[in-house]
Amino acid sequence: MKIAIMGAMREEIDPILESVGTYTAIEHAGNIFYTCSYAGHELIIAYSKIGKVFSAITASVMCERFGAQALLFSGVAGGISKELNIGDLIMASTLCQHDVDIVAFGHPYGFIPEGTLMIESDPALRSLASEVAVDMGIELYEGIIATGDQFVASSERKSWIQQTFNADALEMEGASVACVCQNFDVPFFVLRAISDTADGGASEDFDAFLKSSAAVSATFILEMVKRIGH
Ligand code: SAH
Repeated sequence: MKIAIMGAMREEIDPILESVGTYTAIEHAGNIFYTCSYAGHELIIAYSKIGKVFSAITASVMCERFGAQALLFSGVAGGISKELNIGDLIMASTLCQHDVDIVAFGHPYGFIPEGTLMIESDPALRSLASEVAVDMGIELYEGIIATGDQFVASSERKSWIQQTFNADALEMEGASVACVCQNFDVPFFVLRAISDTADGGASEDFDAFLKSSAAVSATFILEMVKRIGH
């Protein structure tokens, strides 16, 4: 099976590239895509750069040009739920865009006409992830992830996102990748390890925990890849 694995930052895919052995680098559409064989699958690996636009470009290329049959996102996020501590893993049940605002026309926050406010990730990949978590003895949280083109480092913004979308974690790429996959009809899965708690100390925590949290997420994603049927 052709499986795309993407992150937003180099640090999020480095642990994956370090584990897969030899790979080929292909330049396309302003980015580098790494292809290799791993666990009987063909992998396409890339980091998009930060935010909704760059992540949408990379996800689109992975679907359209590389023919990905499933897309797994691995990365870090700011935790909202009090149950989530730094280093904990959350998989998105659904994702939304917290910075979409056309409420002046009577639409709810996050809603774009002819789109959906929440996009659900693939149930089969989520149940596979739950099995992997049990076998690895890891606690895997499931919840709503809110995406926007903002690094959230404020308790006020964080609680607004929590109250408006009932979100458990926030980041800057998940919902745009979800939107691409929904439109290309490619099953997708978004996994994030918590790097910070999106409040006053978020940038310091992020810098301190990016690498370790990205590695937690990457290790889990590779374990999932090993179990995906061919
Ligand atoms: N330090 C980087 C910027 C990181 S932006 C630089 O200077 O280049 C944060 C990245 O991690 C995004 O890709 C986002 O998806 C995720 N993320 C982690 N914590 C976040 C938070 N509190 N708010 C928004 N995104 C967050």
